[in-house]
Amino acid sequence: MKVIFFDLDDTLFDYSGSERAGAIKFFNHFRDDLNKDLNTFLDLWKTYTQKHIQRWANKEISFEQQRLERIREFFSRNMSDRDAENIFNVYSSYFKNNWKRFDDYSAVLDLKQDYELGIITDGPTAHQTDKLKKIGIIRDFSVIVTSEIAGYSKPDKRIFNHALKLLQCKPSDALYIGDNYEKDYMGSKSAGMHSLHLNRNMLTPDNDHSINTLKQIKDKIDEFNF
Ligand SMILES: [Mg+2]
Repeated sequence: MKVIFFDLDDTLFDYSGSERAGAIKFFNHFRDDLNKDLNTFLDLWKTYTQKHIQRWANKEISFEQQRLERIREFFSRNMSDRDAENIFNVYSSYFKNNWKRFDDYSAVLDLKQDYELGIITDGPTAHQTDKLKKIGIIRDFSVIVTSEIAGYSKPDKRIFNHALKLLQCKPSDALYIGDNYEKDYMGSKSAGMHSLHLNRNMLTPDNDHSINTLKQIKDKIDEFNF
């Protein structure tokens, strides 16, 4: 059986939309402390989030620490772990209340009768599983591999190899779909898998293996006979 693997954040799960909605609520909650306008706040929030999540991906700090570091940098002051955690939890509950999947997800369900489906995602297993449950899609996938389980983060081909091994699937019988050109598209190609780049916002130029919505998967795989 052929397998289609998906990235989670910003591919199936609307991470950026949820983050933005949560951040706006957070801004309103702390606006007197923050001393910034909303757009400056949102840009900085994104920058600091990416920065500290990358430090976590590089194994410099733990997943919990990256959260606290984001808050400390944001409020530009030293604070105890406990204070930073309390502030982070305010953001986290707003963020979680806005978790949602993308509307084009139904196109993924249509693939289920012909393919086995899996997830390969960077992140702690508990956190990523939580998202899959909350947005109601966890049962659609026969395997979920996180960077925590595999011990490697994308684009390292070993995380893709790990997933292939679990399903005893040859790379040529697998397709990977994700929104990040380097991590998802180039990473899965380096593991020998077929690959599609989900270019939702068209921030990079399209190539022959680009799609702009999950609805285009079916046509693309017919095109290259997967
Ligand atoms: Mg992604």
